[in-house]
Amino acid sequence: MTDADAGTPALHPETRAIRAGRADNDTALAPILWATTTFVTPTVEEGRRMATGVGAARFYSRYGNPTVAGFEDAIAQLEGAETARAFASGMGAISAVVLGLCSTGDHIVAQRQIYAGTQMLLQTVCPRFGIDVTFVDATEPGAFAAAVIPGKTTLVIAETPANPRLDIVDLDEIGAIAGPMTVVDSTFATPLIQRPLDHGVDLVVHSATKAIAGHNDATLGVVAGEAELVNWLYSFAVLQGANASPFDAMNGLRGLRTLGVRLERQSANAGAVARFLEGRPEVGEVRWPGLESHPQHELASRQMALPGGLLTFDLVGGLEAGRTFVEALEIAQLATSLGGPETLVTHPASTTHVNLTPGELEASGIGPGTIRVSIGLEHPDDLVADVAQALARIGA
Ligand SMILES: *Cc1c(COP(=O)(O)O)cnc(C)c1O
Repeated sequence: MTDADAGTPALHPETRAIRAGRADNDTALAPILWATTTFVTPTVEEGRRMATGVGAARFYSRYGNPTVAGFEDAIAQLEGAETARAFASGMGAISAVVLGLCSTGDHIVAQRQIYAGTQMLLQTVCPRFGIDVTFVDATEPGAFAAAVIPGKTTLVIAETPANPRLDIVDLDEIGAIAGPMTVVDSTFATPLIQRPLDHGVDLVVHSATKAIAGHNDATLGVVAGEAELVNWLYSFAVLQGANASPFDAMNGLRGLRTLGVRLERQSANAGAVARFLEGRPEVGEVRWPGLESHPQHELASRQMALPGGLLTFDLVGGLEAGRTFVEALEIAQLATSLGGPETLVTHPASTTHVNLTPGELEASGIGPGTIRVSIGLEHPDDLVADVAQALARIGA
């Protein structure tokens, strides 16, 4: 890594996030947008080296690009990784990990309650390629290791905090699994809240579309970890073609500068809303890692620097209450995605998961009145007041 701060471990992550990924900037303070598909090759020998090697940033932008490389360097530095590879989306990164590392006859252990796109990939695409998947309950201690088949399991996939109920997976436990490669989707946490590689996990993936880019204007993913594994993925990624756009990578670097303060504000705001919800008769369970009532509150406090801005709760009034509630909100907006400045809500049972049976809904951790909230950067009093008026509309 060429970053100026790489040799100064004393800097706090928030400071590093502001300075990382700027090594190729000349004297420009802000990241430079390299909006070019191709680069003039200085010599035939250099062209051959770039075409056949790993990580060329000035050959052809599907292979690499200087703006994208800046973003990759920044993520590698923040995750404490040897290297990173950016993708066109979080799913681009996750599908590259799964299809780039696994072959026919391999076996994957994954957690049951996980991002819906990841679940679909594992349930519908993997079987077509003869890759078996075992789903486990991630909150049950030892469940991942118990499902590993020695000599057959090649990959263990975890997500923490996880969709949709903010379950927490013990990173030490994943890191200690010997044999298969281990990967953690750390999207909800970002590298400023937890660093899975420090716990012995092999690869960390992010949908940088979310809090990292942080402004709902970039679709971006990234994988970071050991150079050997990420470089192995590189040869698949170049053919997969889900490479990050320089513009989105630039917005990823822009987002990193303010990630520290945004996470603090979102965590504080989420705490205010979660505590308000906990006392309300219209509300059943409230899930937020910072609440003492979260079943894994102690684990969350141990491995996460902040509880984060995601919270999930159940309206006792079920489907009808959920629909009325999300439509009655005035500041919080009904939209999928998370980690941005605006507070967003989803009501999975009436939108994204409308075709699931009650049994399937329950297995996914979703009740008829489940609401997921991505808390934004608004004033906490305005958010609490908005939630209060929307609850008043559904009645007790
Ligand atoms: C959004 C999300 C993804 C997928 O990312 P995209 O950028 O939408 O492809 C993967 N994992 C988690 C936890 C997510 O929230």
